[in-house]
Amino acid sequence: MSAEFLAQVRTIVGDSAVTTDATDMAPYLEERRGLYFGKAAAIVRPGSTEEVAAIMKLAHETDTIVVPQGGNTGLVGGQTPDQSGKAIILNLSRMNAVRSLDVENNTLSVDAGVTLAAAQEAAASAARLFPLSLASEGTCQIGGNLATNAGGTAVLHYGNARDLVLGLEIVLADGRIWNGMRGLRKDNTGYDLKQIFLGSEGTLGIITGAVLKLFPAPRSRATAIAAVPTPAAAVSLLRHVEAETGGAITSFELIPRIGIEMVCTHVPDARDPLSAPSPWYVLVELSSGSNGDELNALLETSFAGAIERELVSDAVIAQSDTQRAAFWQVREAMSDAQRHEGGSIKHDVSVPISNITRFLERAIEAVQSDLPGIRPVPFGHLGDGNIHFNLSQPMAMDTETFLAQWTHFNQIVHGIALDLNGSISAEHGIGQLKRDEMAELKSDVELDLMRTLKRTLDPKGLLNPGKVVSV
Ligand SMILES: Cc1cc2nc3c(=O)[nH]c(=O)nc-3n(C[C@H](O)[C@H](O)[C@H](O)COP(=O)(O)OP(=O)(O)OC[C@H]3O[C@@H](n4cnc5c(N)ncnc54)[C@H](O)[C@@H]3O)c2cc1C
Repeated sequence: MSAEFLAQVRTIVGDSAVTTDATDMAPYLEERRGLYFGKAAAIVRPGSTEEVAAIMKLAHETDTIVVPQGGNTGLVGGQTPDQSGKAIILNLSRMNAVRSLDVENNTLSVDAGVTLAAAQEAAASAARLFPLSLASEGTCQIGGNLATNAGGTAVLHYGNARDLVLGLEIVLADGRIWNGMRGLRKDNTGYDLKQIFLGSEGTLGIITGAVLKLFPAPRSRATAIAAVPTPAAAVSLLRHVEAETGGAITSFELIPRIGIEMVCTHVPDARDPLSAPSPWYVLVELSSGSNGDELNALLETSFAGAIERELVSDAVIAQSDTQRAAFWQVREAMSDAQRHEGGSIKHDVSVPISNITRFLERAIEAVQSDLPGIRPVPFGHLGDGNIHFNLSQPMAMDTETFLAQWTHFNQIVHGIALDLNGSISAEHGIGQLKRDEMAELKSDVELDLMRTLKRTLDPKGLLNPGKVVSV
């Protein structure tokens, strides 16, 4: 990278917003799981849309590769540059202003670098809800959420990130700005361009701003953990509670016994929610716009019916916010707890909910007969058909030997998901991790359409190359 290029970048964003020192760059170059390490010529942190546009124009003129980055919490290596050291990372964290809150329109306009937690807080300040919710919400940014079309724990009721956006501001690969910051719920004036950028993982444009949809803040919630004998019972319970509570379910998360044990072993203060162990659990949450305790009563009645139908063996409903937080802690600490149990091989699959039981039966059987002692820890968003089918290594096995089988186990698990009409990436995206595998699975027509989009919007191939689809 030429000194002249860097000098121009410094002129655009200011000296303090450009990092070239190896130690200071390190946190931006490694992704959280330690699966990808990249090299970069500089980390550039613009402070405005105009600065992003100027950087992109300069990059276009000088054929410089740009890797967009938000909170660096992505799980597929999309935000990590390659090993060439030729890219600049364009990190959006300085663009962290809430632009406006329109309480009548129920919308929040933000810079892309606003963290998800800050967007939630801004909505809450006006008794509104921005319902996207992820365990990484303190760090991940709206731009990253939209670029990955993040899912999380409330998709069942509110949809994916894609469903929560009314408008976008995009800086294109050549530096032009598209201002699509519209707050309209109805707008059929031609192609819906924002959809192209949502879920494009930084390969088609830089998201610099967004108009987000808000909802009334729930006034009451009922949160419970129920012990269920099988995943089939969990699916029947989902439909039972849904019917009994008039569609008030906002989360329905599956948890295996081994997950509870790992959390109780490794997370200080975490407690087993029920007195007797059960092979499976679900965390159920209902929300309502009304005050009062009626949701707890509704859930209790619904569980009584479920116990009669032998879908549930025991259940506990949170009696306070502290207890509710403790239930969510059990669910959300599972990935971290698994890290203390040696190597883990991850999957983020989805299948139609009607196939969840078959998927779990077949996948557990297949991995256990392939490697006796392997410990499946399948958990996640059962209400959306999305299971994080994570595998912990056999106790006595060497971690490296186990992790060397990552692709092998992906093939087994993804093969079963696909056979059951599922997807190999429910919510984390493609990035580098699944790019080649996706290319094997998509039809020629679909890949051709994706490549045509990429070539049209980024003709020089400078925006996050090597991610999602190779051109
Ligand atoms: C503990 C934990 C829990 C998680 N839980 C969930 C979950 O429940 N559901 C879920 O879907 N994900 C989950 N994730 C994954 C991750 O948090 C999400 O993918 C998140 O949306 C990424 O946001 P980020 O700002 O960190 O983006 P980054 O990791 O920085 O980037 C992710 C991708 O988006 C691109 N990008 C980032 N910002 C922009 C921008 N402004 N313009 C264009 N492209 C951009 C990057 O190039 C990259 O391809 C979890 C991660 C962790 C660590």
